[in-house]
Amino acid sequence: MNDKTYKILLSSPHMSGREWKYLEEAFEKNQVFPKGDNVDGLEKDIRQFTGARAATCLSSGTAALHLALINLGVSRGDEVICSSFTYAASANPIVYQGAIPVFIDSETETWNMNPELMEKAIRERIHKGKKPRAIILTHLYGMPAQMDELLEIAGRYEIPLIEDAAEAIGSRYKGRHLGTLGEMGVLSFNGNKIITTSGGGALISGRKEHCDHALFLATQARDEAPHYEHSHIGYNYRMSNIIAGIGRGQMEVLGDRIKRRRENFSFYQASLQKYEEITFLTEPDNGFFSNYWLTTCLVDSPDKSNKALRLFLQKDNIETRPLWKPMHLQPVFRDAPAYTDGTSEELFNKGLCLPSGSNLTKEDKNFVVDRITSFMES
Ligand SMILES: *Cc1c(COP(=O)(O)O)cnc(C)c1O
Repeated sequence: MNDKTYKILLSSPHMSGREWKYLEEAFEKNQVFPKGDNVDGLEKDIRQFTGARAATCLSSGTAALHLALINLGVSRGDEVICSSFTYAASANPIVYQGAIPVFIDSETETWNMNPELMEKAIRERIHKGKKPRAIILTHLYGMPAQMDELLEIAGRYEIPLIEDAAEAIGSRYKGRHLGTLGEMGVLSFNGNKIITTSGGGALISGRKEHCDHALFLATQARDEAPHYEHSHIGYNYRMSNIIAGIGRGQMEVLGDRIKRRRENFSFYQASLQKYEEITFLTEPDNGFFSNYWLTTCLVDSPDKSNKALRLFLQKDNIETRPLWKPMHLQPVFRDAPAYTDGTSEELFNKGLCLPSGSNLTKEDKNFVVDRITSFMES
């Protein structure tokens, strides 16, 4: 029975203690407002870490996606290509703009957007008289998508691509950081992500204009004048300088956090490889480097389901979670066009996210593997 007095969580915040000095600094300098040295510092840290030319810290990853779409001029009635296998936050900002998401299914190697289906969708939408205005591509669970293929297609049709790298800070494709390969990239520092500021996000880009304009819109679009003058609709999307202090401390340990998440994955994979019914999402080849934000697997057995495993582990105070339910199967998006082949639906039906925090102990992970083994042998 359950000999654990605490719950083993899927992914919980992992503070390092280094966050405090930045918070204290903010208090000492009385920088308890959105702008300030911590925001500047965090933007610099993000640029240095990812190699992006520009970064703007914002109140959330969702806000960053929203501003990215506005930067590209996405407006009412436009169509925007979007990964179907993702979190709703990837798609919601399309609707904020009055635009229409066009969902694309996954391929089986990375679980991310299928390049062939994306091209099919683009051709068909153009044929129908409406060229998609933008592409939002998610790198799910930290795994890089098939970027060469996707960027080639996006480039050929001249459609700007936004990378939703909310789950993928530190992941790389052919050596380059995710979020820096498309026109713009989005990061998230929400509480369950690999590093967290409790809530927050950033827009990164190789084009400084994008980040500058996002900053302008995020601060209520105030024109240059001594009084308050406005010629655009603005937003209050700026990150707080307090929150940014947490981010600076977290950036100092990001390398360690990635290492630990990757170790979690390797440990689960090695410990459970004897069960051919359990397969893991893995890097297809050396060009793909995942931060393994979450370790995800498929349970493919006639008499053992992902749901049964989840409920079995729940009894032992172990939190697991189904994979994201694809957007084209969500009631709220039932009328959106979708180009699907059943892949993400099958992943959803068989998949499970295992406890993946960088703060899991060896004993925690051994216990999880022990309970999964017991489920498989039952
Ligand atoms: C977390 C997440 C977001 C949104 O980020 P927030 O900071 O929570 O707004 C967007 N897309 C994906 C894939 C995410 O996992």
